[in-house]
Amino acid sequence: MSGGSPWPGISSLPGVERIREESVIIGAGIHGVSTALALASRGRRSLILEAAASPFQGASVRNEGKLHLGFVYALDRSGETTRAMVEGSLAFAPLIERWCGPVDWESMRSDEFGYVVMGNGLVDPDQAEAHYESVLAEIEKVAVSLGSNYAGVDLGDAAIRRHNGVFPGMADGHSNCWFETPERAIDPRVLATRIVDAAADEPLIEIRSGHRVVQAERLESGFALEVETGSGRCAVETENVVNCAWDGRSALDQMVVEDLPAPNFRVKHHVIVRGGDTTGIVPATLAQGPFGDLVLWPNDDVYISWYPVARTHFGDRPEGDLRPDRRLADQVHEVIQGMFPALAGFSLADYGPCFIVADGQTDINDPASRLHTRVGAEHSEFQGWYSIRSTKLTTAPLAAERCAAAITGIGAEL
Ligand SMILES: Cc1cc2nc3c(=O)[nH]c(=O)nc-3n(C[C@H](O)[C@H](O)[C@H](O)COP(=O)(O)OP(=O)(O)OC[C@H]3O[C@@H](n4cnc5c(N)ncnc54)[C@H](O)[C@@H]3O)c2cc1C
Repeated sequence: MSGGSPWPGISSLPGVERIREESVIIGAGIHGVSTALALASRGRRSLILEAAASPFQGASVRNEGKLHLGFVYALDRSGETTRAMVEGSLAFAPLIERWCGPVDWESMRSDEFGYVVMGNGLVDPDQAEAHYESVLAEIEKVAVSLGSNYAGVDLGDAAIRRHNGVFPGMADGHSNCWFETPERAIDPRVLATRIVDAAADEPLIEIRSGHRVVQAERLESGFALEVETGSGRCAVETENVVNCAWDGRSALDQMVVEDLPAPNFRVKHHVIVRGGDTTGIVPATLAQGPFGDLVLWPNDDVYISWYPVARTHFGDRPEGDLRPDRRLADQVHEVIQGMFPALAGFSLADYGPCFIVADGQTDINDPASRLHTRVGAEHSEFQGWYSIRSTKLTTAPLAAERCAAAITGIGAEL
């Protein structure tokens, strides 16, 4: 800890802007902007510093938008990940509606996912069914306090249904059992537009894009941040910081908190195809293990994923920029269309790499990997420095709400 003025070299240079704000948020993805909206709903101003040229350029628009209910976390036998995902999902729509006003969920929501139990997966159909039943029990429990609004759908009568046979539209030879589930995805790009518009209309929120935080220091009271901008540098002083920098989060945390364990960084490429006949394409998750997903969004884009090809890095944060890889995207399309022949008529529309940040030293083909568990809508607090630990779009609004309640002391803990 240091006292006095931060970086006297910078602040004494002529032309270096100095900014003061009570609350500063680092990162304008879903965690950062939701936190700003949750603070504003409590009457608190905040300044968001975003490295990219505009908000929502990172993981928050490169994911498949699944509002997890916990079906995919069958290997967390404690049930804690399922509970965390159900809470996140049932808090999601009510919080977004509170901050953004009425939302046309139908314009961004997928149909329900089928869970396909792969013949070479880590759980068999009976184990999958037992887990899926436990998800339903959790939904019933959590709905008592959070309600049952799930992206505009009432989950009050959620059910699963087992089918012993081949999943609709899937080639033979991969699976002979699948489950109807109530789980859905939303198109994260449509959601992003709604959230960014709400933040732009909120006078208590300022977003400075093109502002990368490169240094953080604890002062006697509050924090000082050194920020690189397109035109130079500026110094920001603040009472509290909410760190929502996703793949940049742990490096910033380590500047103000000692001995924090480093998370696991995976690079996964998103792939979107479009232009084919979507008749009969049903969202599917291939369970359980290093497989993939298929999601049809309302604008007829199809998000496809095949883990063994699309996950290209595992371990410490790699140096340098991540680069899109056309050959890799074509390969993902080839594998998924081999399983779902209807996708043969589609063309590549968008692809690119992104980080997934979580705990775990071994990959998901290990049933004991911590990647099969997630912390949920949580943050850590280090005397005014708040670090968002939620690792999912699903749990982002609830994590933001909890963090804003902790900062302001306003609002019951959800
Ligand atoms: C391929 C993929 C699929 C996924 N699928 C799902 C899914 O189906 N369902 C689900 O719930 N979750 C999913 N996730 C996880 C989900 O996308 C993330 O948890 C979520 O988007 C993270 O949001 P964020 O706001 O923390 O990060 P981002 O959206 O990445 O925002 C962080 C922001 O911080 C900025 N930043 C970083 N460092 C600095 C700095 N030093 N100074 C200033 N700004 C900085 C970045 O520019 C960025 O804009 C998926 C993730 C990936 C990669």
